[in-house]
Amino acid sequence: MLIDSHAHLDSHRFADDRESILRRAWDAGVGAVLAIGIGEGPAEMHQALAICREFNAHPESGAGLPRLYASAGIYPHTTTEADEAALARLDTLLAEPEVIACGEIGLDYYHEGAPHDVQRRGLIRQLEIAAARKRPILIHCRPKDSGAPGDRSSSLGWKDGATDAWDDLFAVLEEHWRHTGLRGVMHCFSGGWPEAQRAVDLGFLISFAGNLTYPKAQPLRNVAARVPLDSLLVETDAPWLAPMPNRGKRNEPAWVAETARVLAETRGVSPAEIAAATTKNFLGLFHVTPNVGN
Ligand SMILES: [Zn+2]
Repeated sequence: MLIDSHAHLDSHRFADDRESILRRAWDAGVGAVLAIGIGEGPAEMHQALAICREFNAHPESGAGLPRLYASAGIYPHTTTEADEAALARLDTLLAEPEVIACGEIGLDYYHEGAPHDVQRRGLIRQLEIAAARKRPILIHCRPKDSGAPGDRSSSLGWKDGATDAWDDLFAVLEEHWRHTGLRGVMHCFSGGWPEAQRAVDLGFLISFAGNLTYPKAQPLRNVAARVPLDSLLVETDAPWLAPMPNRGKRNEPAWVAETARVLAETRGVSPAEIAAATTKNFLGLFHVTPNVGN
């Protein structure tokens, strides 16, 4: 069994065929999906939970459809909307048993959808709320100058050595997160080995997405080859970042299998070993079993 640790199932791009997408995921061996609750902004943070509840109540959930979990959080770009009312709604959502993580939250100095200090403040407030609710966090981190505009596929932050967002992120996590003893996920990891090491040292799991499979991503694969097996996760970040050979198309959870296959090849192990390890890591981090949620 594979787990897609990060998919935007609430995307409008899945509005017409969400159930068939989830069915295809199940058929591809995906037993669970973490639906990311950021919506297009804080007003839509609840959408992932709603989808999670809808499908977990389906008679085929867990036998024909993957088990769904949800997160909730305020994305770096929309931290300008992280007012007290939005933060209170986040707190309420994190109290729900299906909402197993706070995210995706973090820093994005590439798109700069919000001023850096607003992003940092929004991140810190959410860390406090997640800590009080004892929820692990899902981190989005993208430094400046880390790829071509509008091409998320080239988000390889190590490439030109830009580490500004990483430096700020680790400073915030050291001050506001490490003491909680809680953990998290570096989602769609695209940093270098120093960033991977620091994340593992903080108890974070490193989640690889479809960009791991791209021809020019050998440096990222070199990092993926070194991450300890018990710190690995795989994800799609659907509908974005479709792995090869479907690059450029709408991504979907079934295709996490392709990223897992490339990760296995990169590490010289079997896909079954990667599936077993990443599933165990996910369930261990979030303290869930595949039967929780019904
Ligand atoms: Zn995402």
